[in-house]
Amino acid sequence: MIGCTCEVCTSPDPKDQRLRTAALLKWDGFHVAIDTGPDFRQQMLRAGIEHLNGILLTHEHNDHIIGLDDVRPFNFRQWIDMPVYAHPRVQRELQHRFAYIFATENRYPGAPMVDLKHLDKDSVFDWGALTVRAIEVMHGQLPVLGFRMNDVAYLTDMRTISDLQREKLKGVKRLIVSALHHKEHHSHMNLKQALSFIEEIGPEEAFLIHISHKMGRYTEVQPALPPGVQLAFDGLEIPL
Ligand SMILES: [Zn+2]
Ligand SMILES: [Zn+2]
Ligand SMILES: [Zn+2]
Repeated sequence: MIGCTCEVCTSPDPKDQRLRTAALLKWDGFHVAIDTGPDFRQQMLRAGIEHLNGILLTHEHNDHIIGLDDVRPFNFRQWIDMPVYAHPRVQRELQHRFAYIFATENRYPGAPMVDLKHLDKDSVFDWGALTVRAIEVMHGQLPVLGFRMNDVAYLTDMRTISDLQREKLKGVKRLIVSALHHKEHHSHMNLKQALSFIEEIGPEEAFLIHISHKMGRYTEVQPALPPGVQLAFDGLEIPL
């Protein structure tokens, strides 16, 4: 957090040094990013990603989309319009916030090239051996999309989920889910709520993401978590 001198923000432990929440799906030579937040460029550089087959967007908050301009190196390397899967509501927000990307007149030749693709809570994609299914969760009043890939589910910015959507999590073995901090929040689950959600779903392993500096130091929080639950950290790899 800019300007913060708390024990997490000043911690030398790499597990306390977090960029904004995002993920990269890697399988059979495919690379698909989930969200392009402000740290997208740094995350792609750090992970040494040389190509990207597409981007799945969870929702339109800036911490999940505002790094979209940095698809340009992929455009120029691969010479394709980057497929960006987004809900129609999120697509409208992209067109508003990145008007220059979608300009039809006097378009700057170096502007990012984006191919918007439809995504909604019922979307299912088969990409080679991987099936990706969308899951809708509620981020306060805002519907947000999460994804299930085989037996792994990724749900960020979640506060609640409907019974119908919860059905899609049946049998999930690895659950990646957001837990902001310890206090009540209108649009995110806190740690206690995330842990009870994990207990209800019953995966073999769970990983907490979208963690605020108010959660506390990794070395203090991790030992207090139930077996099978981990605080995720930057660079963590989870088998699909
Ligand atoms: Zn801090
Ligand atoms: Zn959000
Ligand atoms: Zn967020």
